[in-house]
Amino acid sequence: MAGARGKHDWKHAQYFRYATVVPTVNKLLKKINISGSLTAEEPMSRHTTFAVGGPAELYAVPNNTDDIRELLRLAEEDGLPWFVLGGGANILVSDSGIRGLVLDTRAFNRFEHRGEDLILGAGMPVSDAVAAAAELGLGGLEFLYSMPGSVGGAVWMNARCYGHSVDEVLTEVRYIDEERRLRTYTSSREEFAYKRSPFQGRKTVMYETRFRVHRADPSELAARMREYKEDRASKGHFAAPSAGSVFKNNRAFGAPTGQLLDSIGLRGYRVGCAKVSDLHANIVINTGGATAAEIRAVIEHMQQQAEDRLGLTLEREVLYAGEW
Ligand SMILES: Cc1cc2nc3c(=O)[nH]c(=O)nc-3n(C[C@H](O)[C@H](O)[C@H](O)COP(=O)(O)OP(=O)(O)OC[C@H]3O[C@@H](n4cnc5c(N)ncnc54)[C@H](O)[C@@H]3O)c2cc1C
Repeated sequence: MAGARGKHDWKHAQYFRYATVVPTVNKLLKKINISGSLTAEEPMSRHTTFAVGGPAELYAVPNNTDDIRELLRLAEEDGLPWFVLGGGANILVSDSGIRGLVLDTRAFNRFEHRGEDLILGAGMPVSDAVAAAAELGLGGLEFLYSMPGSVGGAVWMNARCYGHSVDEVLTEVRYIDEERRLRTYTSSREEFAYKRSPFQGRKTVMYETRFRVHRADPSELAARMREYKEDRASKGHFAAPSAGSVFKNNRAFGAPTGQLLDSIGLRGYRVGCAKVSDLHANIVINTGGATAAEIRAVIEHMQQQAEDRLGLTLEREVLYAGEW
């Protein structure tokens, strides 16, 4: 019965979508003139590391900042919400998808170095950028090697791995602000904190970044990067679709969140095809065919159990995106 009801709800949602949203989207598709691509009803499961998520009503891959500004202008004119997508490695997109416009930043893939200054497009996969820099004997970013996601996403999250975080090496960000102006942000560490950046809570689009690197021996860099990758592999990071750690660590809790969740027996806890990894109790995996709702149910169970049994309020790191 539950299945039949689910199907009915889905059909109703589809009807509603076609009756109300599609005319707006079609109108937009006709009037937008950008050099990048624009499609409708793009499944987000293709663009997230959880491999789940319903369609984005409009999915754009802008080629340059003029494209982004034009897309933002039209979205605003038509009252469409918009969302910036990096590598989709820290988001859980709902099964009913994302209303409005998704801006995929992948075309912003500049890689250039001037002395000890590394200029990276915000859409470049961060791990590829680290590998390319290391080959040139430029060190400083190795801690990010083999972490999924884009450079922009790593800045937005102030990604942290192996005792280092992005704010230690970031010097500048070029972005489009809330008034669609091109701006340059000079990085100041006081504005960052653990998994926090000044871009959170703002409606901006980062398109280029600068990092401070240093000269180093490429073979030493390669050895360190190999260690990080092997460590991630041993924790099952590449074994199944996930978004990495679900909850942040909190020093005040006295132990890493994974250990705390392990202590209350959550490894292997499952709802449908979503489950807590057998290798790491702070990672939820899609064992194949999971829905976003199942993943969210596992996450909420973990949070509730931590509250009820340990008296700890965990802060979620994975972001919920789309219509829930
Ligand atoms: C296996 C695995 C291991 C992981 N390990 C770690 C780890 O060790 N440390 C860690 O910190 N994280 C880790 N993560 C989480 C994830 O890799 C990071 O949070 C990463 O920085 C997310 O980047 P992204 O490009 O995928 O961002 P997305 O998930 O695409 O987006 C995240 C947020 O950033 C915003 N955003 C992205 N790009 C831009 C832009 N150009 N302009 C404006 N806003 C933007 C989005 O709108 C969204 O709000 C892991 C994930 C996986 C799957």
